[in-house]
Amino acid sequence: MFCQIAAGTVPASKVFEDDQVVAFSDLRPVAPTHILVVPRRHVPSLAEAAEEDWPDIVRALQVARQLGREGGLSDGYRLVQNVGPDGGQTVGHLHWHLLGGRSMTWPPG
Ligand code: AMP
Repeated sequence: MFCQIAAGTVPASKVFEDDQVVAFSDLRPVAPTHILVVPRRHVPSLAEAAEEDWPDIVRALQVARQLGREGGLSDGYRLVQNVGPDGGQTVGHLHWHLLGGRSMTWPPG
């Protein structure tokens, strides 16, 4: 699904894209800002990332920071990556959730 969004064959509300990363609004936002930051390269999860995937992972983190800055999240934000079933991952394509616009609680559920 996220490969298809990256390719433009499934619509999404994109807020950023370059040759390595796309970012778009989550369909079911859990915070005023809820953006998914997704490497284009198909990697199922962080646990399955290979050596050659790291440049895309670093790029995704750079994009997340840039979107946090540009999105006015100067009081902070949360960057979440769910890994595998126990981590709560439901979509098998590496991604980060950029959550902001409200105060976050800890620990997560
Ligand atoms: P995770 O549970 O960490 O794998 O996160 C998957 C996220 O993808 C969830 O927050 C979903 O709401 C979101 N999601 C699933 N399908 C789409 C879609 N087509 N467009 C935007 N967000 C989606």
